[in-house]
Amino acid sequence: MRVETKLIHAGEPRPRHAHAVTMPIYQSSTFEYAGAASYHDLQYIRLNNTPNHLALHAKLAALESTEQALVTASGMAAISTSLLSLLSPGDHVLAHDGLYGGTYDLLCNDLARLGVTTSFVDAGRPETWAEHVTPRTRVFYVETITNPLVQVAALDLVVKFARERGLVSMIDNTLATPINYRPAEHGFDLVVHSATKYLNGHSDLVAGVVAGRAALVQPIKHKLDHLGGSLDPHACFLLQRGLKTLALRVRYQNQSALELASYLVRHPRVAQVNYPGLERHPNHDRVRRWFAGSGGVLSFEISGGVAAVDKLFARLQLPVSAPSLGGPESLITRPATTSHAGLAPETRRRQGIADGLVRLSVGLESTQDLIDDFTQALE
Ligand code: PLP
Repeated sequence: MRVETKLIHAGEPRPRHAHAVTMPIYQSSTFEYAGAASYHDLQYIRLNNTPNHLALHAKLAALESTEQALVTASGMAAISTSLLSLLSPGDHVLAHDGLYGGTYDLLCNDLARLGVTTSFVDAGRPETWAEHVTPRTRVFYVETITNPLVQVAALDLVVKFARERGLVSMIDNTLATPINYRPAEHGFDLVVHSATKYLNGHSDLVAGVVAGRAALVQPIKHKLDHLGGSLDPHACFLLQRGLKTLALRVRYQNQSALELASYLVRHPRVAQVNYPGLERHPNHDRVRRWFAGSGGVLSFEISGGVAAVDKLFARLQLPVSAPSLGGPESLITRPATTSHAGLAPETRRRQGIADGLVRLSVGLESTQDLIDDFTQALE
C-alpha cells in the first residue's frame, strides 16, 4: 500500500468491530482477563493496549515503515520515555544544536540531574562530531527539520556515523511528517513525533509517537507502562481520525508555505526568510534529494525588530498568535517568548534565534488570503 492508502486502511480492525466503518472508542479503563501471561499484556489503558491503542500502533508503524510503533500522552512523553529507556546514569548523548526547547531543557536539566550528559553539535558540520564521542555515548539525537530555523542536517551522515559507532540514531520527525520524509527508510533506528502537530492536524489534542524496531520499541513500551504517559482512548480516536487526512493537509501546506515564503522574500520590509523549500536556503539541496516536500513551517525577520513584530501581530487578521504548529489555522509566534522562552537569551542568540524572529505555521486557509493579510499588515 502507498502512504495515502495506509492512512485510511492500515491498522483498522478486520473484521470491523460491530461492523462500524469508523473504529469506535473503547472508553473502558480495564478489560476482562483473557489469560495474559505478563503484566504488560493485561488490557488496561495505562498499559497502552486497548483496541484504540492497538489500531493506532499498527497504523503509525505502517506510516513510518517500522516494525512497531507506540502512541503516547504527548510528544514530550514520547521523547522523555524513549531517552529514559535508552540511557543510564553516566551515559552520554550527542544532540543536534537547535533542538525543540522542551527537548533541550529535558537533556540539559532533567537528564543531567540523573547523570546523563549531552554534547550539542552542529549537525551540518559532520567533521566536528567525532571529537565529542565518548565511550559512554549511546544516542545521536536530531530533528528532521529544526524549529524555528527550519534547518536540515546531513541526515545521511548522522545514520552512517551512528551505525559505525553502535549509537542509536534517534530523530524527531514532527515537522516533516511521514508524508515528506520517513526516517526509518533512510536507516534511522528510532523515530519520535509530537502527534499534537501535523499527525492529528486539528489543534485539539496532545499526543506523541515512538516508532522503530521491536527490539527498541518494546523496552520503551515497558518504560511507558511504568511512567504512565498513556493516551486516553478518546484522544486515540481523534488522532486516528486526524491521520486520515494527513497526506492532503501536508501537501497543501507544503505548497502554501512555499508560496508564502516566496512572497515574503520579495517584500521590502522582510529582512530574512528561512524556508528549506527556497532555493537560496543553505539546506535546499538535502530537501530536494530526500524529502517529498519542505513542510508548512517557515520563519522570518522584519525590519524594526520586536516593536515592528508586535505591530505586525496586532494587524494580522488570519494567523492566530499562539504556540504549536500543524493545525488547520495558521499559527504565528515569536519563539523567544514561546517555544524557546526557557532558553537563556545567550543560548538563543548562539542558536541564531533573534528576539524578533517570527515563526509561521501555515494552515489550510486560502494561500492568497494569507498573502493578502500579510500585505495589509506589513504595509
Ligand atoms: N518536538 C517538536 C519538534 C515540537 O515542536 C514539540 C512541541 O512543540 C514537541 C516535540 C513536544 O511535543 P508535545 O507538545 O506534544 O509534548
